[in-house]
Amino acid sequence: MKAVVIGGGIAGLLAAHVLSESHDVVVLERDKLSDEPEYRSGVPQGRHVHGLLVRGGEILEELFPGLRAELVEAGAHLTDAGEAQLLNSVGWLAKADTGLPLLTVSRPLLETHIRRRVTAKIVDGVHVTGLSFSGSTVDGVVTRDGRVDADLVVDASGRASKLTTWLSDAGVAVPEPVVVDSRTGYATRLYTAPEDFPVVIAELAGAPDHPRGCAVMRIEGGRLMVTAQGAAGDHPSRDPEEYDRFLASLRGPLAEMLADAEPLTPIYLFARTASRRSGYESVRDWPGGLVAVGDSACSFNPVYGQGMTVAALESLLFRGHTDFSARGCHAFQKKVAKVAAEAWAMSSGADRGWTDDEPGTAQRLLGWFMKKWQAGIVHDPDLFRRFVRVVHMKATPASLMNPVVFRRLAKYSRQDPRPERRPGGSSPR
Ligand SMILES: Cc1cc2nc3c(=O)[nH]c(=O)nc-3n(C[C@H](O)[C@H](O)[C@H](O)COP(=O)(O)OP(=O)(O)OC[C@H]3O[C@@H](n4cnc5c(N)ncnc54)[C@H](O)[C@@H]3O)c2cc1C
Repeated sequence: MKAVVIGGGIAGLLAAHVLSESHDVVVLERDKLSDEPEYRSGVPQGRHVHGLLVRGGEILEELFPGLRAELVEAGAHLTDAGEAQLLNSVGWLAKADTGLPLLTVSRPLLETHIRRRVTAKIVDGVHVTGLSFSGSTVDGVVTRDGRVDADLVVDASGRASKLTTWLSDAGVAVPEPVVVDSRTGYATRLYTAPEDFPVVIAELAGAPDHPRGCAVMRIEGGRLMVTAQGAAGDHPSRDPEEYDRFLASLRGPLAEMLADAEPLTPIYLFARTASRRSGYESVRDWPGGLVAVGDSACSFNPVYGQGMTVAALESLLFRGHTDFSARGCHAFQKKVAKVAAEAWAMSSGADRGWTDDEPGTAQRLLGWFMKKWQAGIVHDPDLFRRFVRVVHMKATPASLMNPVVFRRLAKYSRQDPRPERRPGGSSPR
């Protein structure tokens, strides 16, 4: 069987790698690719913090043994996930060893190292402009320069995928996507990293009172990636003075901590951050020979760092799935939706606090539970460890719904905040 994968981002590379265990696979990527890590126009989000969740890191290591060590050799940082210093609207989260390895790296370095290890053929500079059909089955793709035959087409062309339009043009009825938009804007700048700077430090925005946040990560090259984030339209600016004012307006000490860091780049913006679920799994006359993965099928508000890990989980679905008839592809799309569903529930659930929708009972309950959590994970190392496992997709959110957790949570309330600034100036711990 010959498979064509549209897009050589993380989802496309991983899908192609797993598919190539048993099929002839070619990845068609619109951008010209370099052998070295470089920002590229097809992945504008690559300039911004890309946190790889622990579960995603594990899958990458399973698919490409030794990748983690290779990345560390290239300058990435490895730490315990519990070492991340996080400030929520109650205070600094508890500190606890989790035994979970967290890798921090820029998106271009990560992608380049994955690409070097992918066994499928990658052809760059090819812009796919549509699907080719034989009856109701997809039998290839149309490109700017011609056509490529395929028994299976995998759309991994990301957030800006045209798949819905291509399907509609072919007479396939596609539902309106579900969109949850926190109206978050990103602004990122690279700095030199002062020697004792934490590997990860972040101030988390929280609906409805704290729209501003920031994530700072040590990356390769002795640099810090600083991504300021503003929800509900309260976006950080590309103007350096306004950017600094935004950082100084945060509740935590990030601006002071960055005082000795030298800016290395201009400030880059990104604001297309809405979570979007395509609903492809519910398309009844879904064609044979076609599946969609990654951001094309479901994209998430990036502040939760879920996209690459969901793409990694989805790539594993190709193992053991051999039926790419219309029925088989529809079944595959249902599996994709199931993989994305938990991540979706977590991120879009939290983001509904930013939307104007009137909360239903389930939403109010979730809001109450989240408030308890905010306090619980500040005060209680055990709850913090459980939280880390869920956020990093090592455990399901359902694992938090148990009597032990409820008993512990009952002790905490938001009226019992920790000081927002830890004593001792620049270091929050
Ligand atoms: C600002 C921002 C920050 C993010 N931060 C994180 C994070 O911290 N952690 C995390 O896990 N995820 C993060 N994500 C999400 C992450 O980037 C994606 O979920 C992940 O890379 C999987 O995306 P993908 O491969 O589906 O799409 P992409 O990575 O966007 O790749 C799509 C590829 O398809 C190519 N392409 C597009 N159209 C065509 C075409 N017609 N023909 C040929 N090629 C085409 C593009 O050039 C690109 O290479 C972030 C996203 C954004 C927007």
